[in-house]
Amino acid sequence: FHRSAADNIVFCFTNTSGYEFSVSETLTPLSELLRQISENQNVEIPLKRHTMYAYDNMAYRFICAVQPEYGCKFSVNQEALYSKSYSISRNETQRMLEHIKTLKPHRARDSISINYARSVVLHMTEPLAMINSTVQQTIEKIAERQKLVADFHNDEEKLREILMKPIKLVHWKIETDTRIYCKACIVETHYRGDQRLQFVGITPNVMDEDPFVVRDVTYLKKDENGKYFCDNCDQNYKKAVNSMWLVSFTEEKEEEDVTVATDLKEKLNKRQGIEQQIAVNQKLKTELELERDTIVKASTKFAYFLNLYSIAPYNDATEKYLKQLIDKEEKMEIDDKKRKSYEQLLGKYLVEKEVLSKAVKNAPADAGGVQAADVIEIVQDLKSLRHYGKDIEKALVAAQKANFGDSEEDLEYHFHPFGPRHRYQQCQRKYENVLKKSWNYIVG
Ligand SMILES: [Zn+2]
Repeated sequence: FHRSAADNIVFCFTNTSGYEFSVSETLTPLSELLRQISENQNVEIPLKRHTMYAYDNMAYRFICAVQPEYGCKFSVNQEALYSKSYSISRNETQRMLEHIKTLKPHRARDSISINYARSVVLHMTEPLAMINSTVQQTIEKIAERQKLVADFHNDEEKLREILMKPIKLVHWKIETDTRIYCKACIVETHYRGDQRLQFVGITPNVMDEDPFVVRDVTYLKKDENGKYFCDNCDQNYKKAVNSMWLVSFTEEKEEEDVTVATDLKEKLNKRQGIEQQIAVNQKLKTELELERDTIVKASTKFAYFLNLYSIAPYNDATEKYLKQLIDKEEKMEIDDKKRKSYEQLLGKYLVEKEVLSKAVKNAPADAGGVQAADVIEIVQDLKSLRHYGKDIEKALVAAQKANFGDSEEDLEYHFHPFGPRHRYQQCQRKYENVLKKSWNYIVG
């Protein structure tokens, strides 16, 4: 119950005829219970004459027993005893109803909110643990992919080192220079088809000749007597003169290795793909963490709402559940990361709880951070969470069933006195009818 119900509580003691219609021995344990509630929750439930009523139902049993089919007989003294019991019980009932009439009706909504919040906290622990383990998995995925990216970087670096290879390029030029050469030792090289293209720059008509012939010659040398000789064919040389030459020269150049370049490009594409995945994962992680923090905040708010307003002390389900999960992981000794993530979550929860605890202490007595109506509002916010909203909604349906066995729609009728089907009013009317009938029975 919400603490505001404390003033509306009365204690009815039955079977009291043997104790002269007094409360007697029950009073001791009851006082102790109420003392504990007062001490722990700061809620006073008065134990005064107007909250205690002692009865007996022996008059009812008497009436049943004297019915013809049972035919029980009682002595005059016994009858007097039953009659006295009836008068006392009737007076007590009247006194109780008179007292109840003076009471301000308890806002059922407040107590429903308490029960609802309690159930929500309990059912929210599972999505909370679920979301936490997803965050953990996402972090691991990111780490794995970051390692892959590092590997690719490494490979790329190595490929870049061998990407450029030295090549020799042969160029041709025309030299006009009169030289004497050996006609017997001409070596002809034939260039056909596209091989001729390298000469286009110097002799535009090269493509008309197929093959295009380039002659390599051995120049004649002179000995000390001024006589020509050929290094190649010695004295059998044939002297010839030419004044225009095609001369080749080579150029050293660096060029990209096509295979390496393709390999490098492939690696680059793969790495960029992975980097995109990492970006997606990072975004997901941020969103999940935000949702997790929202649930943690909501849970602590509920916990404080419960602690602050309920009559019985609140048993912190979230803390207990997380500790249980940690304990389980410790015993299994399989997934160290999972246990650590639960520990982190518990840490987060406890920090949040501490923050709220301070806020509650500093706030005016009734402010408490959360009011009954806020409970429903926070729940609505949780349901609209992008990733885990649906899971929370499922959990909350279970929470409602556990509490009311009712749909949310039905719950709304009780919350809103003037709901579409005026269910609250129907309840009220039924209740009033029952009250009227019993009143007439007792008084009339
Ligand atoms: Zn020669």
